[in-house]
Amino acid sequence: MAHLQKNTDVIVVGQGMAGTCLSYQFSRNNIDFTVIDNSHIRSSSMVAAGLINPVVFKRLTKSWLADELMSYLHTFYLEFEATIGTSFYDRKSILRVLNSAEEINRWDSKRRGSLKDYLGEICGENEFELQLNKPANLGVVKAGAIDVPAMLAAWKNRLKEAGNIIENNLDYSMIEYGENKVKIQFKSDSLVGKKIVFCEGALGVNNPLFSWLPFNLSKGDILTLRNDKYLGGEVLNNGKFFLPQSDGTIKMGSTYNWDDLSYETKKERREELQEKAKETLSGNTILINHEAGIRPTVKDRRPFLGRHPIQKNAYIFNGLGTKGAMLAPYFSEEILNFVMNEGSLDQEVDIKRFNR
Ligand SMILES: Cc1cc2nc3c(=O)[nH]c(=O)nc-3n(C[C@H](O)[C@H](O)[C@H](O)COP(=O)(O)OP(=O)(O)OC[C@H]3O[C@@H](n4cnc5c(N)ncnc54)[C@H](O)[C@@H]3O)c2cc1C
Repeated sequence: MAHLQKNTDVIVVGQGMAGTCLSYQFSRNNIDFTVIDNSHIRSSSMVAAGLINPVVFKRLTKSWLADELMSYLHTFYLEFEATIGTSFYDRKSILRVLNSAEEINRWDSKRRGSLKDYLGEICGENEFELQLNKPANLGVVKAGAIDVPAMLAAWKNRLKEAGNIIENNLDYSMIEYGENKVKIQFKSDSLVGKKIVFCEGALGVNNPLFSWLPFNLSKGDILTLRNDKYLGGEVLNNGKFFLPQSDGTIKMGSTYNWDDLSYETKKERREELQEKAKETLSGNTILINHEAGIRPTVKDRRPFLGRHPIQKNAYIFNGLGTKGAMLAPYFSEEILNFVMNEGSLDQEVDIKRFNR
């Protein structure tokens, strides 16, 4: 049997949001790359709602780097959509339920001040034709949403057509590191690259080169529901989100759990979400699906970008936490520049912050 060896410049491990945005950056910069992905087994991106929210509701402040991230991602996703000929980016509003006079006053003052670019007027639910159980005051946020599975599937097709993806699980024992060389030995064929970038999401905790990083993984559950009354086209948020889908269903979530990191869906979590849906929506709601995923969350809530301190041709792009849709575009450019030009990284995201 003939043994084939493929040579490439950069190997990207993982095709979730991180690996997708990064490999797209390689492609648009004409850099030779090959992605390895195990068909999204355990991928957090495949269950994510894909919401993009520049506002932290609890404190009513801008989220970290909101201005830079929002302006970058808008251009990035529009260009990416045009390149792959698929529509997955939607500039939706989030309608935040305001529960007290104090919340309404705070919203109003932030809307005229530090959050003027993102917060809109306060409206009643009738303006959006929502059919809620209780009348509500709704603060409008200029936000967005990505259909993540659609984005990943369309990009994977492109990668397949170009012969730029190997659909296989990477066992770390298959990797042989050399100076300026990384070889991956599959059953009969091999892949040889000059550099490797690991984008494995939560599974990155098993990577012997990077398992020392302070991951703080969190499990999230999300439901797909169908409701017999119209819920408008925007995203409703009353502590949980209700995101209308193009097929008439609603994605609703999510939960946060740091103790149970199994991938199983549990009855208690489902009931917690269903209870909230019942309290919020006036129509009859039926459950279509329940999914769970593990978010690659980090102790200091900042992404992991950087180079392994000893294995100089091994890099990481991970730790996107709860905000992959917002962080992945901007930081995929930053890690691309670092990998190709050895430029410097923002200290807040550089994994060197843990060596000090
Ligand atoms: C319930 C829930 C709701 C969420 N909602 C949102 C939201 O609304 N907005 C938002 O921005 N974020 C949301 N997130 C967070 C979001 O999912 C993450 O930020 C993002 O998906 C992380 O992307 P990633 O590419 O780093 O990881 P992943 O999506 O996990 O991708 C990693 C990829 O690497 C592959 N892989 C790993 N190891 C190997 C290996 N050894 N060999 C081969 N392939 C491998 C995996 O199969 C996978 O395809 C949500 C998460 C959950 C769980």
